[in-house]
Amino acid sequence: MDRQVCYGVDLDGTLAHHDEWKGGNFIGKPIPKMMEKVKKWLSEGIKVVIFTARADDPDNLEAIIDWLDDNGLPELEVTNIKTPEIKRFYDDRAIQVVKNEGTIIGDESLINDSHVEVSAQQKLDDMYNQGIKI
Ligand SMILES: [Mg+2]
Repeated sequence: MDRQVCYGVDLDGTLAHHDEWKGGNFIGKPIPKMMEKVKKWLSEGIKVVIFTARADDPDNLEAIIDWLDDNGLPELEVTNIKTPEIKRFYDDRAIQVVKNEGTIIGDESLINDSHVEVSAQQKLDDMYNQGIKI
């Protein structure tokens, strides 16, 4: 049984700067704080897998492996499959929930919903202000 600790780390917006999708061959510049964490974990013997939706398409894998190599990381496993092996997920979209409780950890009002179009968000705000249950 593999007892090595394993962390899943998202690519776009977590390990690599990301504003908008520019195709499978474009990956943004590395984010230093997260790169340092990943390198430290690897030096401590922690297994790190790149957990990214890009893994949907096998044609995207070569660009990811090249990006890792260009930025001083080894050829890490790339996956979009959540397995019990992965003990932690680092992701710019993640919201942590207390196990078996449903309580959100942290301040939800600080969550950056920049992916929600302003018009859609405005519609929700308008519905809320009108007392419509959403
Ligand atoms: Mg992301």
